[in-house]
Amino acid sequence: MASVQVHTPSTGKYEQPTGLFINNEFVKGVDGKTFETINPSTEEVICSVSEATEKDVDIAVAAARKAYETVWRKETPENRGKMLVNLANLIEKNADLLAAVESLDNGKAVGMAKVDVSMVAGCLRYYGGWADKIEGKVIDTNPDTFTYTRQEPIGVCGQIIPWNFPLLMWAWKIGPAIATGNVVVIKTAEQTPLSGLVAASFIKEAGFPPGVINIISGFGKIAGAALSSHMDVDKIAFTGSTVVGRQIMKAAAGSNLKKVTLELGGKSPNIVFDDADIENAISWVNFGIFFNHGQCCCAGSRVYVQSGIYDKFVERFKARAIANKVGDPFAADTFQGPQVSQIQFDRIMGYISEGKKEGATIVTGGERHGDKGYFIQPTIFSNVTEDMKIMQEEIFGPVCSISKFETEEEIIATGNNSTYGLAAAVHTTNLNTALRVANNIRAGTVWVNNYNMLHHQIPFGGFKESGIGRELGEAALSNYTQCKSVSIRLGDALF
Ligand code: NAD
Repeated sequence: MASVQVHTPSTGKYEQPTGLFINNEFVKGVDGKTFETINPSTEEVICSVSEATEKDVDIAVAAARKAYETVWRKETPENRGKMLVNLANLIEKNADLLAAVESLDNGKAVGMAKVDVSMVAGCLRYYGGWADKIEGKVIDTNPDTFTYTRQEPIGVCGQIIPWNFPLLMWAWKIGPAIATGNVVVIKTAEQTPLSGLVAASFIKEAGFPPGVINIISGFGKIAGAALSSHMDVDKIAFTGSTVVGRQIMKAAAGSNLKKVTLELGGKSPNIVFDDADIENAISWVNFGIFFNHGQCCCAGSRVYVQSGIYDKFVERFKARAIANKVGDPFAADTFQGPQVSQIQFDRIMGYISEGKKEGATIVTGGERHGDKGYFIQPTIFSNVTEDMKIMQEEIFGPVCSISKFETEEEIIATGNNSTYGLAAAVHTTNLNTALRVANNIRAGTVWVNNYNMLHHQIPFGGFKESGIGRELGEAALSNYTQCKSVSIRLGDALF
């Protein structure tokens, strides 16, 4: 097995798999290529892992196809469910290690990484429960015909995931695909390959036959592009930027018209009315933007506060943001670690200087934190206008803009003034206001008096340019099934 010893500050030394996980084995890439993964807190190399090229994608897809045709199509739904539950149990048993690996590679605070890992187990177990509840219908058209439908798997699914929740995205993709009888080839993000490989090492033990779940590390333009344009991949599921989402659709259209689901970016409005419980609202607005260092597709990056409480809100929100502890992800009291990479750090700092240039006011932050690692101060801009770049584009960092509104009608229009439609929130003690705003905001998720509260039972996905399809909940199952109608003639010939 291709592996190296790696040390984490919380769990000590462990054996890190570095190969491509194909056919239940860790193997080197055909061309022997590798790439380094960096610790974003120290900017030092953690280790190198195998890089998948087009040839390796071909091998992984062939392994998946063989598993699908020879064993997986014949497996019972009950057993598929059991294997997912076994995997959930193994993830839970190794939660401390997985959380430590996630913190090391991604930079998120280890306490937050532990929550991610428990959500990973929850998601896999939930979809394990769905495996034997995928049902068709009987459709009565006339007494001479018996017609039924089957919800069949799509087949070989390519899945491309990002670096912001490396292991959670792994589970969101595996869970519904496997529960519905598909096989998968997952490409993890090049910034964060490690936790997906550690978790891959439990797949065989969970009982999955070789080739059912394959995990490859590699770059988007090579392995990701090969997967999305592959002629023997039946479906591609992608989470990441809207720019790449468009490329995935083009690749699908230009190859075999594989089915496409996309979970993309956002610029979500977080709306606070005068009558909100202000302390509660500040706490959720703070969590809405600064959780996971702002690296959430649903981050509440546009904060709108009604004029009656605006000044008080800005002052208290500023104090709350300053109190967020930024630093070593392995320190117990850290809330915010480093951004994931130098590239992301530079992008975010670029947006901050753009905001300053455009004339917005820095309420707090706006600078690098420390002089080592990709740390950025929690940053709030005020005096922003709707046409500013920082109001229009996804920053994907600990940066939000705050502005004032007067009326409900106005804020619904402003809230909807985005090409994105992933999420939104409304903070108010008036139930009618909450429901009217929730009904009129064009977004896939609306939180009332909370933010970022995702759950594996609740569908999640985008309106507008934030995506196609839904993840999580029962809704995600339909991304991975296709309906077949079988019609049986009971009587004699028609003529
Ligand atoms: P990205 O979209 O480039 O990468 C996400 C995944 O797609 C990675 O696995 C990557 O290897 C793969 N990929 C990249 N190019 C590809 C291609 N041509 N074909 C197939 N796969 C490809 O995102 P990024 O460059 O890591 O981050 C840039 C921005 O994207 C961020 O600043 C943020 O705005 C957004 N983003 C959004 C999410 C989300 O959850 N919606 C996650 C990560 C990044």
